[in-house]
Amino acid sequence: MLLHSIDTLAPAIVEVFTDRSTGNRSLISKVSFSAGDPISSFYWSHVYPSPTYLTIQLGEEEHISLLPSCLACVNHSCHPNAFFDIDQKQLVCIRPISCGEEILFFYPSSEWSMDQPFTCLCKSPHCLHTIAGAKYLTPVEQKRYRFTSFIQKKLASVYGLTS
Ligand SMILES: [Zn+2]
Repeated sequence: MLLHSIDTLAPAIVEVFTDRSTGNRSLISKVSFSAGDPISSFYWSHVYPSPTYLTIQLGEEEHISLLPSCLACVNHSCHPNAFFDIDQKQLVCIRPISCGEEILFFYPSSEWSMDQPFTCLCKSPHCLHTIAGAKYLTPVEQKRYRFTSFIQKKLASVYGLTS
């Protein structure tokens, strides 16, 4: 399996699209991926004690800014096609992505209680509307998503172990 590194392959694999009217950035795939494919490895240089709207949660009071920095442009969807696997340090594809499609992840997959909750407009049939972190998901909603090891532990501590 080929693991792409965006550091060197960015122009071939992804591009950052900036919406001129809103200034919002998004990460667009320039190739197709199948579920299970790694999209990029990632790493971090600092661990911060509190979250911002750009960080990914590693643990209690442990939040990172992703590198390569273009990964901060991966936006939220309630019907995500990618997942930040922190144990493997890989952004992985979780459902097929075509060339030209935006790469999207589910913010609560890595965030327990978000710094800046927002109203989602993703238009997915299962859109949760208010995105505030995994802490606020119902057990039914939790079953639809994959979560980082840290969030799985938090959910288990609150809701009990689910299989
Ligand atoms: Zn949504």
